[in-house]
Amino acid sequence: MSLDPAQFREPLLALYSDLDEEIRRLAPVCELSGRCCRFEEYGHTLFLSAPEAALLIADAPSPTRPLDDGATCPWQDTQGRCSARDARPIGCRVYFCDPLYQDHAPLVSEAFIGRLKALVEALELPWDYAPLHRHLRPFFEAAPQGDAPSINLVVMNEISDFDRT
Ligand code: SF4
Repeated sequence: MSLDPAQFREPLLALYSDLDEEIRRLAPVCELSGRCCRFEEYGHTLFLSAPEAALLIADAPSPTRPLDDGATCPWQDTQGRCSARDARPIGCRVYFCDPLYQDHAPLVSEAFIGRLKALVEALELPWDYAPLHRHLRPFFEAAPQGDAPSINLVVMNEISDFDRT
């Protein structure tokens, strides 16, 4: 199912903004290790909902690297930084390596996933909570052969197709 981010961009970005404010209040330390985005190496998986994935795909710049089977994120640049910061999902915003923050992370995550679920239900959107690479696979496979995946273009085509049906 294609999702039009225009349906939910404003409230979802407002939710992200509140989450960022909460993270600023807690002030975890980020040493730019990049491990949050190297999932397999550090033993975690980035899960996100369908609306978060649709917003990421629509609003982030084209990925800097190819999609793999869930080992890494295609938006991590060669310096280990995120190239999709404004559009990144809740899981990315909540995750920090700082040991002093580890007790807070589950509580913040639970609170904001709860708010996201309420938003998804209110707008009657699909939830489809799944690993990042599963959401991205259809868009990368639809990218023109030999091109770096320009998924902004692909999602616009998908939206156009959706509008026509
Ligand atoms: S979207 Fe950004 S922060 Fe999230 S996993 Fe990818 S590179 Fe890391």
